[in-house]
Amino acid sequence: MESIGEYKLDSRLYENAVVALDNFANTGPLSAHTNEQAGNLNDVFNDFLCNFLNKTRDVVYFNGLDEKLKSLRIKKMPLLFSILLGVQGYYNISTHEIKVSLPISDCIYHELFHAFSSFKVDGEMYGSGFWLYNKHGDIGLMLNEGYTDLLAFRYFCNSISYGKEANIAQKLEFMVGKQRMEEMYGSNNLLGLVQFLSSYSSFDYAVKFLMILDKFSVHKSICPKDIKIINDVSNYLVELYLNYLLTEYKLGKIDISVLTERLEEFKSHFSDYIFNSDWLKSYYECSSEYEDITNKLSKDYFQKTMKNRPYMHS
Ligand SMILES: [Zn+2]
Repeated sequence: MESIGEYKLDSRLYENAVVALDNFANTGPLSAHTNEQAGNLNDVFNDFLCNFLNKTRDVVYFNGLDEKLKSLRIKKMPLLFSILLGVQGYYNISTHEIKVSLPISDCIYHELFHAFSSFKVDGEMYGSGFWLYNKHGDIGLMLNEGYTDLLAFRYFCNSISYGKEANIAQKLEFMVGKQRMEEMYGSNNLLGLVQFLSSYSSFDYAVKFLMILDKFSVHKSICPKDIKIINDVSNYLVELYLNYLLTEYKLGKIDISVLTERLEEFKSHFSDYIFNSDWLKSYYECSSEYEDITNKLSKDYFQKTMKNRPYMHS
């Protein structure tokens, strides 16, 4: 596989991320992240909460949902805070508390996804969805924001704030499968995701892929550095999918006609999914840094360059 791109990745941060993943792998089943001083939720929030649970509990399967529900607190966010941070709400993982500005807007759904996908182990390790933090390091933050946005968009038509990250998360989900990826998110199965990526690239690339996403500039803005990141991680995902198809093909699970169909399907999704916002899409395509990565998704490319490669068996 080609390299993901040339980035100055701090080797210490890389090592720390790997140690964090390793420690996480040895924690055993995760228990619910709860707040012992749980308060009653105000009625104002209950409609949002019921709507959230009705639409998501049977598809995302949050770990320890009942305990998290009992202990979740929601508070009003001071106006000044909202102005300074430029957000309408946020989730505080250490207190298992959501703060929102009033009147409550749909932005609360994004925060509810964070709250119900959170976990904490002995105060030393915590995280949410695909994000993991412990004293050794952290990994998966921006993938988690992108996927959280994607879920809030899917189930509650929320607007997308993390456009670049959601875009990459959506491409990844296409490969992993929607149901499997949602379940991985709800059960904090970052390890499963890394394993999937590793099977068709390498563990090293899987970790670097997650770390490179964390180099995106602050959400809602885009700069040439971001375009390069989008190109490089998209290229990584295309290579990953080609390796996956090659494996299926060499194992005799699919023939060349099915393979061609899959390439076409992926290509159409890949183009459609490039951006969630027309503004971002036109900015990206007009940039001198733009690369059309989808030209690799053709039968000709596969037959010329892939067929003779050794395949990666998961
Ligand atoms: Zn968020």
